[in-house]
Order: sequence, then C-alpha cells, then structure tokens
Amino acid sequence: MANVYYSKNQENFLLKIKEEIKDNFKNCNKIAIKIHFGEPGNKTAFKPEDIKPITDILNELNINFFLFDSPVKYNSLRDNPDSYKNFAIKKGWGRLGEIRTNDEHIDVKGENLTYEVCKELIDADAVLVISHVKGHVCTGFGGAIKNLGMGALTKKTKGDIHYGGEPVLVGECTQCGACERACPLGTLKVKDKPVFGICYGCSNCVYACPNSVLKTRVNYFDFLLAEGAAVAQSKFKKAYYVSFLKNITQLCDCESDPGEIIANDYGFLASPDGVAIDMAAHGIILKNEGEDVFLKYNKKSGTEQVKAAEKFGMGQSKYNLMEL
Ligand code: SF4
Ligand code: SF4
Repeated sequence: MANVYYSKNQENFLLKIKEEIKDNFKNCNKIAIKIHFGEPGNKTAFKPEDIKPITDILNELNINFFLFDSPVKYNSLRDNPDSYKNFAIKKGWGRLGEIRTNDEHIDVKGENLTYEVCKELIDADAVLVISHVKGHVCTGFGGAIKNLGMGALTKKTKGDIHYGGEPVLVGECTQCGACERACPLGTLKVKDKPVFGICYGCSNCVYACPNSVLKTRVNYFDFLLAEGAAVAQSKFKKAYYVSFLKNITQLCDCESDPGEIIANDYGFLASPDGVAIDMAAHGIILKNEGEDVFLKYNKKSGTEQVKAAEKFGMGQSKYNLMEL
C-alpha cells in the first residue's frame, strides 16, 4: 500500500515536500518538473506563483531543474515547441527556471500502441510530476495519470490515443439511444444507427451500448491513456508526484474555457505512487462533495483510468492517507 501525504495547509505541506525531495532526489543533478503551463485564456490552470514555493525548495537544496510540457495535437499556440515555449515565458513561467517544450522522443511498445515518450523526461535524473486535479471531457477526472498519459507523450501519440478510443459499429443497432445519452459532447445522434459527429474518442458510447455492437478502434480511451502513463513512468529514472486540489473545474487545462468549478478546494497531496495519488484525490473530492461530481458533469467517474494504470504496473490503487 502506498503512502499519500495530505494537507489542507500549504505551509505544513511544503515542509513535508522538502523532506520528500531530500529523500527521493538524493544524488540527482537534473530534475524535470512535468507540468501543464495552461491553454491560452484558461484562468484556472497553474500559475507560476502556485509552483514557486516548490521551485524555491529545489533552489534551496541546490537541485537543478527545468520545467517541461509537450506540444498538443489540436490547433493552439501550444501546438509547436517554439510558440508553446514563447507563450509559457510570456505567462511568467521563465521566472521560475528553464522551460522546455520539445517533442523529441523514444518509441516504447505497449500492449495497445507504440507510445512516443518524451526524451527530456527519460534523460532527466528524476521527474517531479506536479498535477492540477480537475475534470476531463474524456476521462471524467484528470490528475497525475492524465498529466503523464498525455503530457509525457508526443502530439502524434496524443492523437493516436484519441483515435484509438473512437467507436466503430460492428453489429445490429436497436436504436436504444444509450450511446447518444452517454456522449459528453452531444455530437453522437442515433437515427436508424448511431451517427458520429465530432468525436474526441472518449469511448463513453462504447461502454454504454447494452448490446455490445460498438467497439473501440484500438481500446478504451482510459486504457490507452493509462498505458501511455505507465510506459512513460517505466522509462523514468525516478518519479515523485504532487497534486493540487484547487480550482477543480469541469474540464481540463487544455481548454481556454474549462467550464465551471465543480468542487471546493481540498488542499495538497504528495506520493511516490502516481496511481495512489489519483485514487486519493478522487476519494477526497467525492467524500467531501457527497456525490460523484465527475460522473455528474462529465458522464464518467474517472476511476477507469486509475484501475487500468494499476493493471499496467504504474502503481497501486490502495493507499494509506497520511494527514499532515
Ligand atoms: S467516443 Fe463516443 S461518446 Fe465519446 S465523443 Fe466520441 S461519439 Fe461521443
Ligand atoms: S447504444 Fe448500441 S444499440 Fe443502443 S443506439 Fe447506440 S449503438 Fe445502437
């Protein structure tokens, strides 16, 4: 069972983080901080001042680091290394340290796909994965697994995961409408059979079909994302995870408008285990909110990816919550 450290108090949390960094990053000369710099226009994604207390600790301990994210597949300032880096610098991230946003990679073969894992993360002595916990249109919930299962992979692999989760009709449709009701985009319409409009490949419609006549092109989105995160982590020399339960929006930081805040702020988590930290974040939010806000707003709870990541060997879903 993995330890997950939890506090609502930032000062207590930072004291623990300092101890954990000292213990876990001994003899590390260069740390990659895997972070999402936020889509232009998004007001609830991380800001440099959120992360500065952690980079201050690294500076105090004389640990070199750089901040890293990979380019995205869709049309955005974040879709190529140069414009993404310039955008991040303009947003003030350069004040914290060096920014890297390139797409150099090595191929890692998984059960479902060959994943292009970003070389900057593989080459670093350790990866500090700092995640903003929030909702996500494809996975319901997004935390550490999402941070690596998209953000540690190239734009090509991001596209392969979305494509791989798309539905294909393989049998006789009874026009029951379950798939239409499950589509978070509202773009799937059932006529004499399902007609797929704009599709992000979330696989919700495939899960929902009671007659199993919808199949994914490759596998469920949650499985592909989880496998991507697991194969990336397997190539890191070391990893440690920090998650912020703050500004929990319906949608993710890749959206310029991530929708409404769907839960209160619940503090900070840290763990050497990327699966345990997501399970703990999910559990804390649901327990305190008294309902599954991810299922309510995004039509998927989010534990599908967590269980899949455990199956792919990324970590353990059972955790020991240590309140600081
Ligand atoms: S996979 Fe299915 S539910 Fe998801 S966006 Fe595409 S059509 Fe809609
Ligand atoms: S859920 Fe399956 S059977 Fe029902 S309308 Fe959709 S494809 Fe047809």
